[in-house]
Amino acid sequence: MTDSVRVRFAPSPTGHLHVGGARTALFNWLFAKGAGGTYVLRIEDTDIARSTAESERAVLEDLAWLGLSWDEGPDVGGERGPYRQSERLDIYREHADRLVEEGKAFRCYCTDEELDGKRKRARAEERVPQYDGTCRNLTAEDEEALRREGRVPSVRLYGPTDDVTVSDLVRGDVEFGKEMMGDFIIMRSDGRPTYNFAVVVDDALMEITHVIRAEDHLPNTMRQIMVYEALGYDPPVFAHVSLIVDKDRSKLSKRRGATSVAEFREEGILPGALVNYLALLGWSHPEGRDVLARGELVESFSLERVSPSAAAFDEDKLLWINSHHIREEPLDTVVGLARPLVEAAGYDEPDDARFRGIVELVREGIDRLTDLPREIAFFYDGRYEVEEDARGPLSGDGAAALFGALAARLEGDDGPLEADGFTAILKGVGKEQGRKGRDLYMPVRAALTGRTHGPSLGSIAALLGRERVIARLFRAAAAVARPPGGNQSA
Ligand code: GLU
Repeated sequence: MTDSVRVRFAPSPTGHLHVGGARTALFNWLFAKGAGGTYVLRIEDTDIARSTAESERAVLEDLAWLGLSWDEGPDVGGERGPYRQSERLDIYREHADRLVEEGKAFRCYCTDEELDGKRKRARAEERVPQYDGTCRNLTAEDEEALRREGRVPSVRLYGPTDDVTVSDLVRGDVEFGKEMMGDFIIMRSDGRPTYNFAVVVDDALMEITHVIRAEDHLPNTMRQIMVYEALGYDPPVFAHVSLIVDKDRSKLSKRRGATSVAEFREEGILPGALVNYLALLGWSHPEGRDVLARGELVESFSLERVSPSAAAFDEDKLLWINSHHIREEPLDTVVGLARPLVEAAGYDEPDDARFRGIVELVREGIDRLTDLPREIAFFYDGRYEVEEDARGPLSGDGAAALFGALAARLEGDDGPLEADGFTAILKGVGKEQGRKGRDLYMPVRAALTGRTHGPSLGSIAALLGRERVIARLFRAAAAVARPPGGNQSA
C-alpha cells in the first residue's frame, strides 16, 4: 500500500455527467488536492448495453470543463491501468477463479429462467427473494454433468456468516444484518463482473485509500466489504455523502430545470461557480463563507465538515454565486468563456482590447454569461432597440439641443475618447445648457445606449469611441425633430 492519498471518480458512461456525479468527482478531487494525493479516473463500462464511447467522451469533457483534471485515467494512462473496466476482464476472471479455488466462492449453474421462477414464487409467498443455495455444495461430478447440459456458470460469493459493519467517515458505523444478503453473483455467466466485484478488484489494485461517493451506494458497500474480506485486501476508508434533493426534499429531477453539467454550461454558469456551488452541497466552509475560489476550496475542504443530511439544490443560490464569479474571477477567464458565446450569438469583435473592455464593464450587472449578448448589444450599431422607458428622456424639452451641443463639442476635438475626458466635456455642456445630474445624464445615456440604466456613462462612451458617440447623438437629435409617432430605431 502507498501511504499517500489515492482517490478515484468512477463514472459509468451511460449518459451525461449530472450534478450528483459532478459533486462526487469534486469532493474526491478537492480531497486529493488538499492532501497532495492522486486523483484517478476510472470508467465503469461493463454494462455494455448502456455504456457508449460518446457518453465517455462527454463525461471527460464535462470534467475537464469543470477543471477537475485527473492524474491517472483512460486517456492519460498511469501505472495501475488499464482504467476502463471493459479492458480489465481478465483481471476480474483471475480474481474470481482464485476465490473459487479458495472455497470462498462457487460456480452457480442456475439459469436466469430458473432464478426468475424462484424469485416470483418467493414474492408470491411474501418471502424476501434470495438465492436458495441450489449450487452451494456441488461436487466436481455434479458440475461436469451440469456443464454437459450446456449450462454456463456464473460465480457467487458465499453470503456472510456474520452481520456486516460499514465504518463510514460521514455516517459513523452502519450495520447490515447478515440476513440481508444471500450468496451474490460476482461474475456473470457471460464473463462480465458485477459492479460490486469489479469495483473492489479495481479499488484494491489501484490502491485507492478513500472511497468518497453518494449515500445510495451504502448497500453496495456492505457487499464490497465482503469481497474485500474474501480477497484478503484491506478495505479503504469510506465516506458516503448525502444525496442532493430538490427544494421540496424530493429526488432531484429534470422538472426543476438543468441537472447536467452540460446544461449548466449552456445556461451561462461559470465552471468556477458550479464547482463553488457543488462544494456547498453537503459541505460547509469553516467560517460559513459561500463565495470561494477554487484555491480556497482546496485549502479549506475536509471530509470532517461533510454533513450527513441531504443537500437541497437551490437554483437562486447558484445564480447568486455565479454572479460573484462573473465579477470576481480573472478577467481573462471570463473573456475566454464569453468569446465563443457571443460569437455564437453573431457578434464578431475583431478588437481584443475593446472586447475585454466591454466584458469588464458589463460583467458587473449580470448573473449568467448567457446575459452577455443582450447586455453588450448597444456597443454594436444595428444590434439594439431603444427601450420603452428611454423614449421619454430622448424626447424631453431641450434634449435635441443638448445632443447637438455635446456632439459639436466632441467633433471639435480629436484623438481617442477617454472616459474621464468625456465626463468632463459632458459636465461642461450640461453647465451651458443648465442641466446636471439625472437631467443631464439620462437623456445622453438613452441616446448612446437606448436604455436608462447600465454601467458608467464615461466608460461606455470610451468603448463606443468618438465617432460612434457623435453619430448616435446626431441621430437622437434628428429623431426628436421628427413628428410625434416617429420611430427612433438604433
Ligand atoms: N460506476 C459507479 C456509479 O457511477 C461508481 C460508484 C462508485 O464510486 O463505486 O455510480
